[in-house]
Amino acid sequence: MKLLAGKTALITGASRGIGRAIALRFAEHGANVAFTYLSSVEKGQSLEQELVQKGVKARGYRSDASVFSEAENLINQVVNEFGALDILVNNAGITQDSLLLRMTEEQWDRVMQVNLKSVFALTKAAIKPMIKQKNGSIINLTSVVGIRGNAGQANYAASKAGMIGFTKSVALELGSRNIRANAIAPGFILTEMTGELQEKLREEWEKSIPLKRSGQAEEVADCAVFLASDMAKYITGQVIQVDGGMLT
Ligand code: NAP
Repeated sequence: MKLLAGKTALITGASRGIGRAIALRFAEHGANVAFTYLSSVEKGQSLEQELVQKGVKARGYRSDASVFSEAENLINQVVNEFGALDILVNNAGITQDSLLLRMTEEQWDRVMQVNLKSVFALTKAAIKPMIKQKNGSIINLTSVVGIRGNAGQANYAASKAGMIGFTKSVALELGSRNIRANAIAPGFILTEMTGELQEKLREEWEKSIPLKRSGQAEEVADCAVFLASDMAKYITGQVIQVDGGMLT
């Protein structure tokens, strides 16, 4: 069953990892897919071709999620080219880890800009067409770290906790317009973001997870398909953990 047939989605940061998996799953479920990338230009271009081969309309845009002024332009381009915007997935994110004593102002500001300010900018721009359509699903990729905190990631944890407050506020503000906002909090998912961890540290993390393994990007993407689809049409303001039971 194709859960997203006829819908148009925009996914930020889809050249790699979880964003890429969401773009592919959305296309498999019949959605037309617009997506962004920044530095991984070749990967972005090849994703566009892969998506088109799945029989949907697809287009990659090189756009920096952290630049406020690019958001409105991006949303206008997507609406002009696709004719609608039903789903926004705020996925682009970075880490710049450091213990607080050594964390610089630049590390703090950069993580806040890419992870949190981008969500404000893109959501603010996206709700205009969604209000007109009287329909929309916004999905924000937070993290279990935003719920629990993590030593060495005060900037990242604060940005991800901020996304949760933002998501719940949008749900309250725009529920009457039939716009839903939910967050997904992945646990430990194998991507380039977590690939830098040493093997030993990774094994320790995996041992502490009730399902005894790290997650796959596709397992997060499946949750995004559900939240984007009409199967979740009475679900808003929620944070769904996709973490193998890590935070239980
Ligand atoms: P990843 O493999 O490092 O990929 C990050 C993606 O974000 C890339 O496609 C990158 O594009 C894009 N990006 C980064 N900065 C950008 C910017 N300024 N503008 C536009 N795109 C930008 O990360 P991931 O593991 O897939 O994580 C995806 C999301 O899930 C993030 O928000 C992350 O915080 C969250 N998350 C991940 C995990 C995990 O275990 N992996 C756990 C919890 C939450 P380019 O390469 O083109 O620059």
